[in-house]
Amino acid sequence: MTVTSVALAAYVIAGLLFVLSLAGLSAQESARRGTVLGMLGMGLAVVATIALALDRSERPWPVTAGLILLVLVVGAAVGSWRARRVEMTQMPELIALLHSFVGLSAVLVGYASFLAEPVGPAGADTVHRVEVFLGVLIGAVTFTGSVVAFGKLSGRLPSAPLTLPGRHALNLLALVASAGLLVWFVAADDTGTAVLPLVLMTVVALALGWHLVAAIGGGDMPVVVSMLNSYSGWAAAAAGFTLGNDLLIITGALVGASGAILSYLMCKAMNRSFWSVVLGGFGAGAAGGPSGGGTAEAGEVHETSPDEVAALLTAARSVVVVPGYGMAVAKAQHPVADLAERLRARGVTVRFGVHPVAGRLPGHMNVLLAEARVPYDVVLEMDEVNPDLPGTDVVLVIGANDTVNPAAQDDPTSPIAGMPVIEAWKARDVVVFKRSLATGYAGVQNPLFFRENTRMLFGDAREQVDKIVQAL
Ligand code: NDP
Repeated sequence: MTVTSVALAAYVIAGLLFVLSLAGLSAQESARRGTVLGMLGMGLAVVATIALALDRSERPWPVTAGLILLVLVVGAAVGSWRARRVEMTQMPELIALLHSFVGLSAVLVGYASFLAEPVGPAGADTVHRVEVFLGVLIGAVTFTGSVVAFGKLSGRLPSAPLTLPGRHALNLLALVASAGLLVWFVAADDTGTAVLPLVLMTVVALALGWHLVAAIGGGDMPVVVSMLNSYSGWAAAAAGFTLGNDLLIITGALVGASGAILSYLMCKAMNRSFWSVVLGGFGAGAAGGPSGGGTAEAGEVHETSPDEVAALLTAARSVVVVPGYGMAVAKAQHPVADLAERLRARGVTVRFGVHPVAGRLPGHMNVLLAEARVPYDVVLEMDEVNPDLPGTDVVLVIGANDTVNPAAQDDPTSPIAGMPVIEAWKARDVVVFKRSLATGYAGVQNPLFFRENTRMLFGDAREQVDKIVQAL
């Protein structure tokens, strides 16, 4: 038995573990098992890859155990330091940054493989050249696209869409130019002549990735993050072809396909077509982008106090909690879970209604609620909770805004028109926890705050929930 055959067998097992991991991650109850299986698969894949790299004598690069150990130690140290320090609210920007690394490595792998093996006469190695070209192309688009997504999500770049005149024509031009450069690259007779179209395409692809994501506005960022996730998977698969590494092809395809499916499901959740998201420009209309503020306030708000809310809850028989990004910012999930537990102990039916894009990344609220040990069976999805809201006594909207905005249904001119929302206003009473009347991520004013049955509880969500718990 050679090292290669053992390593290849390990690759097959790792591939299976990744498939089982994805299956586990599709439901909250099995998510922990899915994560463990994924970690086992990745551990096995890393060990097999190292064994293979040390064993292969024909490798073009000097790979030594010391070099691998050094890279592992540095990577593990930086990774665990960041994982410990990162706030839950910064998770999407961190994911975007990690996608950019995948894109950059696909570019570097493509160049390394191209430069390591001298280019033969045109036609002799066409397949390899196409692999290199596509790997670098997808990698470069993923790299700059992810850097822009990171900048937008972390507030380092304005999140309003950049709408250059003729932007669709510019994107199309970049694709046509890349196709022309591919023909040139494949037809070149030696490395010296082939390198120019490769470099030119890299520049075009870097600009394309930047422009594609810069043109997408705040409200569509969730889809962009998962779309980049998909791109990073295809970039990894392309690198797998270039390196002749089967496992990289399998994992890349898994990530690419699951990212694409997630993007599709999220578009459905926001009632937007995938192409309208990818082609960008959302939020540039009259109501302004995320940084552009919202429309004027509409009427009077009714303010309330923690004591009043405690009294309202004591008299209620059914309560639905709708969490949003503000709950994550305030780190209010533990007091909220505590409040729900106390109400349940008094015989009140308490459930949670989670919008598919509440927070700043898919599943954001589910993770926070799981961390606070809220039982899964009381955490409902939007479609499950909406039919029950007309019969609900009190809805507590904790730091959610866009995801409970009735304008999505009532105002066809709203930038979020048509986006499915949690119909909190249909309950008998609504209490909105937030610090001000400021708009949410999409920069759109929320008429819910001015409804007759809505009470505003201004202040930090965590402090206010603590006060309600004390009052109870
Ligand atoms: P929003 O961003 O619409 O609103 C969050 C609200 O929380 C704000 O209005 C803010 O109001 C309030 N808030 C902030 N800090 C606190 C605090 N400490 N205490 C109390 N309230 C606070 O959140 P939603 O979850 O409703 O909607 C998510 C939005 O983010 C959607 O537009 C979605 O498209 C977008 N998005 C979602 C992603 C995902 O994958 N889930 C990724 C990227 C974007 P105030 O400042 O007045 O306190």
